[in-house]
Amino acid sequence: MKLPSNLLSYNISQDTGPVGAKVENQFPDHADHLGRRLAIVGEAPGANEEKKGVPFIGASGGLLNTLLCKAGIDREVCFVGNVCQYRPPNNELKLFNWYDREIQSGLEQLDADLKTYRPNMILLLGRYALRAATGEWESISLHRGSLFISADPNSPMYKRKCVGSYHPANIFRAFKNSAYLDLDIRKAVEEASNPQLDLPVRHFERNLSARDIIQRLRRLRMDAFMGREVWCSFDLEGYWNRITRFSIATDPTHGFIVPFTRGEYDSFWPVEDEAAIWHEIDLTMRDTRVKKVLQNSLYDRFVLAYKHKVLICNVQWDTMLAHWEQYAELEKDLGTQASIYTREPYYKQDRKDENLEKREIYCCKDSAVTEEIRQEQVKELTDDPDAQAHLDFNHALLNPLLYMELRGLRYDTVAAAEARQRETIKLYELQRQFNLSSNRTLECLVAIAEQTNPGVGQLPFRSLVLALAKERLCKKREKADVISFHQLPNAAYKKFAWEAGLLAQLETQGVLTNSPEEWVRGAVELALQVGVNVDSSPQMCEYLYGVAGYERQWKENDRGELVLTSDVNAMLTLYRKTKHERLKTVLRIRKQNYLIEVLGIRADPDGRIRCGYNLVGTDTARIACYESPTGSGYNLQTVTKDLRYLIRADEGQWMFQCDLAGADGWTVAGWCLELGDPTMYEDYMFGLKPAKIIALMFNEFIEQLKSLGIDVEDEAQVKRIPRDNALVLLANAYKKFANYSRSDLRVMCEIVDQDGWLYFGCKRIQHGSNYGAGEDTISGIILKDSYKFIGEPIYVMPRVCGWLKQLYLWRYRGIEKWQELVATIVLSTGKMKSASGHTRIFFGRKRDEDGRIDHDTLKTALSNEPQENTTYATNLALYNLWHDPENRTSSGALIIEPLHQVHDALLGQFPQDHTEWAVQKIRSYFSTPLRIANRSIHIPYEGAYGTDWKNLKVGKIK
Ligand code: URA
Repeated sequence: MKLPSNLLSYNISQDTGPVGAKVENQFPDHADHLGRRLAIVGEAPGANEEKKGVPFIGASGGLLNTLLCKAGIDREVCFVGNVCQYRPPNNELKLFNWYDREIQSGLEQLDADLKTYRPNMILLLGRYALRAATGEWESISLHRGSLFISADPNSPMYKRKCVGSYHPANIFRAFKNSAYLDLDIRKAVEEASNPQLDLPVRHFERNLSARDIIQRLRRLRMDAFMGREVWCSFDLEGYWNRITRFSIATDPTHGFIVPFTRGEYDSFWPVEDEAAIWHEIDLTMRDTRVKKVLQNSLYDRFVLAYKHKVLICNVQWDTMLAHWEQYAELEKDLGTQASIYTREPYYKQDRKDENLEKREIYCCKDSAVTEEIRQEQVKELTDDPDAQAHLDFNHALLNPLLYMELRGLRYDTVAAAEARQRETIKLYELQRQFNLSSNRTLECLVAIAEQTNPGVGQLPFRSLVLALAKERLCKKREKADVISFHQLPNAAYKKFAWEAGLLAQLETQGVLTNSPEEWVRGAVELALQVGVNVDSSPQMCEYLYGVAGYERQWKENDRGELVLTSDVNAMLTLYRKTKHERLKTVLRIRKQNYLIEVLGIRADPDGRIRCGYNLVGTDTARIACYESPTGSGYNLQTVTKDLRYLIRADEGQWMFQCDLAGADGWTVAGWCLELGDPTMYEDYMFGLKPAKIIALMFNEFIEQLKSLGIDVEDEAQVKRIPRDNALVLLANAYKKFANYSRSDLRVMCEIVDQDGWLYFGCKRIQHGSNYGAGEDTISGIILKDSYKFIGEPIYVMPRVCGWLKQLYLWRYRGIEKWQELVATIVLSTGKMKSASGHTRIFFGRKRDEDGRIDHDTLKTALSNEPQENTTYATNLALYNLWHDPENRTSSGALIIEPLHQVHDALLGQFPQDHTEWAVQKIRSYFSTPLRIANRSIHIPYEGAYGTDWKNLKVGKIK
């Protein structure tokens, strides 16, 4: 091995401090009976290794041995070594410089040892090992699982076949990476039989003429017409409104490129050629005989349909959906999939390469690799008919989802603009409130100005503001000429353009009068930058921790360092600890800023707003939503109730929404029933909501406390109540309600305030307790959710949450049994099935240090089936609606249209003159029972319709 000559002398003899005993690389005990020769190279030994003088015998070694064993090879037949054979201080290899003696001598040793061992395959564990083979610092998360031959002549691995993966120590911090390590070790073991690297050979055609492209597309359709099974995989590059190129692959080894731009912008083809190519693409995409395969098909389908009016029919396979079936918790991008299902080395860096040829080949590879992945996925899924059936169901949902993306929602832009104005005034009021409480007001500014400019405070308000604005916002040489607010935007520094514009706007509104309203003062203070800007982290941190002296809050930045923070979590924590009104005001201002931003979105030219969906965007099958590529709209699943009036039914239509009632709770109720506790199931069947019953029991408990003179609002008093006394009172409350009939409970539930904190909190108690959350966590969830959904943080003391949880678990005793059952299943099988037929594999850590089920994994497992079932029930309704032949006009158009999906709710519209028919139809769409806990359960729904998403008051769908 040679060192780069310029670095040979640098640092090589430099001592980095005392170094312990050398840990020699370990050669195999004996040869593998299958002739495999695998070398495993880690980073540096730890304490255990140093003590025993053997690499990888501590915790990392234990995990490595287990995974090797699972992959069918014994560690004893492998070479195990390290980049550096000395233990670094604190076990932190980064404390050794790459060119320092420890690492360089380690590489020399490794070079010699590998020459002696002559491995067929080298497994590189961690960044340092990867660098030793490539000569570059590469990202492990991108390059892991990718086979390559080391091309670095300075590397001990030079000319040898390698694959990188996460270091086992990383798995202890991020356990889900163990799935990747597991897969990569299996790949390394398979490759260890010979030293050759057989990579897929792919032939891509570039520089085709328009005629050639057209011919190839025609041939494809002709083959399909003649009855041959034709799979067409393709990939788009560029942006939604400027496609730069397009690739098509008909099998994993062949593909061609269709360029559309020269450079990235100018058109590649003469107009007629481009039109002819698009026409041919259109025919091919529409051809229902040609089977299409795509990665994340919804995106490409939306772009082609919205912008180019090209419809892709017969999408038979979406690799992202198929991947999710088995690996819901892993990354879903094509690069990761390629590393799992194919032998294609990592190529994603070529996407933005300067070289056009590389970019074109990159695009072709995407198509070819997608088809190769499909072929592998088909093989893997043949053994699991339930997963295949669920995948078919998901594929069948792509059309209705695409329909919703394209259709968009009619948006009342005028009302939005009015609302924006109103909300902006509220923002100024809030800012003024905060400025007063933090003592940074216009009045303070005037007092300071008086010192240098006596009498300024006596000026009429308008002149005063203009004088201050000139001082604070204007360029020196332009100040003198400014005599009106409308000159400010030109005279202000670029960075004050918004502020100057705001003052000019206030002037136009004529509100800068001598007795200005509070909101005007707030606006002027914002424009003059008097108060603390609550969205500026440095300003807020300085105010909170420097001026106001709050307890410092920290968070980890991207580099893993702890930095001061004033983010939402920090603010909620401070509010929880102090209950200071001004902290609440800060939170309200931030919410208000967001609201104003949302009200500022622009609709697409057709007056509609849109979003994109990802059917497998979450681990628990919930459909994720994001801003549409067109740039209108945003994540429309987050539209708060008070803004829903902006989303309106089209002319002559009623908008409807159906929500599953009790949604996730039904799965828990079903399992409790199965395990011998029918209470929750029967409550639900009777139309009773568990959260309301908890609220009733809790009110009774509070009455008892009050009769003892205890004020439950007073944290100090609550803390002083002895545990046993509280338990006795809670038990009384529980028993009292256990004795009521369900009819009585129904009457009593009516008095529970639907919009009050208690019911809001009890819903979180129900779900938090189901999913194994403790009282502190539930208290935090209530705080965060209340801020998120109602804009006001509600703090419920952890102790109170504990009481509520106790009442809930007493009434529904089956919950703990269900939780035990889930723990047993996860520990014994590592997976669980839900009503849709999908089996979720849990990649998280199974047991904690005491051998019990890992709490995070348990929480994940507990929430999985309820959430999957809820999504499945909503999706089934969407599926039924879409596939109902009676819901089509003679031209095939939908009568009842789906418009949007929000987890357990479906939004749509139907013609007003079909109301009776539509209501009965929608009922039937929601009437598919699910198989939960060995019985058929029908999750009920509540539906209504009206003029817009908020005012669904014209009729009910029940
Ligand atoms: N980590 C390594 O990289 N090597 C060892 O030998 C032990 C832990």
